[in-house]
Amino acid sequence: MITDPTLMNLFFVNLEGVRVLGVDDEPAIPEVHIELVRHLVGCSSCGVVARVQDRSAVRLIDLSMAGRKVSLVWNKRRFICLEPACDKGTWSEVDHRIAAPRLALTDRAGRWATYQVGEIRSFLPQKGFEHSPITSTTVVRPPLCRSWL
Ligand SMILES: [Zn+2]
Repeated sequence: MITDPTLMNLFFVNLEGVRVLGVDDEPAIPEVHIELVRHLVGCSSCGVVARVQDRSAVRLIDLSMAGRKVSLVWNKRRFICLEPACDKGTWSEVDHRIAAPRLALTDRAGRWATYQVGEIRSFLPQKGFEHSPITSTTVVRPPLCRSWL
């Protein structure tokens, strides 16, 4: 586990409010563990300050780094509204800069993949594939995502 803050910040640059807890290099796919910096969270229904009920580790596919697969493990907080008259119940924190809810990959990995699709679409007509639609059997392996295919 890498705990040097300088090295850990290499994994998450420019995401304010995101704290890198550590980088676990022991698994076959290294894991970058993160959490959002703690701050008071209010219930979106009644406005009462919520309490952290528990945490769950959400594993996301992230961009590969230095040619290696990387998983991002987001230690998401689940909150509960303490107002007895409120029907909100519990909810998990959301940060679209990291990943949209229920997606299996990070936002930046999704943006990278989308960019690659655009690159492929612009590349294919040059190579005579303009009448060949991209199908599920079309395999394109750009260097940066080769480890995930
Ligand atoms: Zn509430």
